[in-house]
Amino acid sequence: MLSVSFVPINLGKSPLMHPRNRHQDRYDFVQLLRACPALKPFVIRTPDQQPSINFADPAAVRMLNRALLSSLYGIASWDYPSGYLCPPIPGRADYLHGLADLLADCNEGTIPRGPSIRALDIGVGASCIYPLLGHVDYGWRFVGTEVDPEALASARAIVAANAGLSEVIELRQQVDPRSILKGMLAAGESFDLTLCNPPFHKSAAEAAQGSARKWQNLGKSVAAKSRPTLNFGGRGSELWCRGGETTFVKQMISESVELGAMVYWFTSLIADRAHLSPIKQHLRALGAQQVRTIDMAQGQKQSRFIAWSFLDVAERAHWRRQRWSAVAP
Ligand code: SAH
Repeated sequence: MLSVSFVPINLGKSPLMHPRNRHQDRYDFVQLLRACPALKPFVIRTPDQQPSINFADPAAVRMLNRALLSSLYGIASWDYPSGYLCPPIPGRADYLHGLADLLADCNEGTIPRGPSIRALDIGVGASCIYPLLGHVDYGWRFVGTEVDPEALASARAIVAANAGLSEVIELRQQVDPRSILKGMLAAGESFDLTLCNPPFHKSAAEAAQGSARKWQNLGKSVAAKSRPTLNFGGRGSELWCRGGETTFVKQMISESVELGAMVYWFTSLIADRAHLSPIKQHLRALGAQQVRTIDMAQGQKQSRFIAWSFLDVAERAHWRRQRWSAVAP
């Protein structure tokens, strides 16, 4: 899913963001610059003289992210090779808050927190963003999977560079690019949830077009050859897979059937609302016991994730008693 945000999310309160999202207010540039002096050359002034950055410049967004992760999440060391997706942190955080609500909703309103809650992030990416945010906000333990060796090496470097993370974030290489969940869970292992920000486009050409369109939407009239298309868009496997988002998620669903007893909630972001219908149809055909769609919005951008489970009512109650009842609220 192409998910670089070009909405100037720091320009005032966003009533649409999840209430627990740490990014409700304008970014505090004094605090950010204290945490990350290297952000200074990227700070610009908005027409009303507020400090901001150019959200169209991936180098600026990357430095802003470094400052945010350091000052708000205590992640002192964070970087990734240029050319990879630059994750907009507020949007990524919203998915995690939505997941926490999903767990709370089936746990009498209490979010299960702490390292006994295990999450599997499919396609963790070079930035390792979901495990970082999810661990800091909820104390969950993560396993991240990745098909791209360079992205995996980058995620591993981030984990190694920050004290305490190697105990709570484990990274696994998906060696078969045709598989998604297959081969990623060890025998006897179980996860309270899985999450995924899937590749969105159907082809490299479509991904490039998508980036160009976003660039145009920003009102930039830069010669095609100098557009930082790849910087916006990320690398091949981040952006596209044969058949696009629907095919990727449908395959993940097919692979989830035989892992149905090992996972409480499987979930995936769905970038395009029109993809929900065929995906739900596939879930029904494969016998999912529960299916939910959770809407999210960051500023003007609407997003959503789908959640499914193969556990029946009795199995879910057993799981909660066994795994969540001793979990600190
Ligand atoms: N989670 C990160 C990256 C999302 S991009 C973020 O939200 O910013 C999608 C990621 O999925 C890419 O890093 C891509 O390499 C990875 N990917 C694609 N196919 C995969 C597969 N079959 N198994 C694991 N990862 C995969």
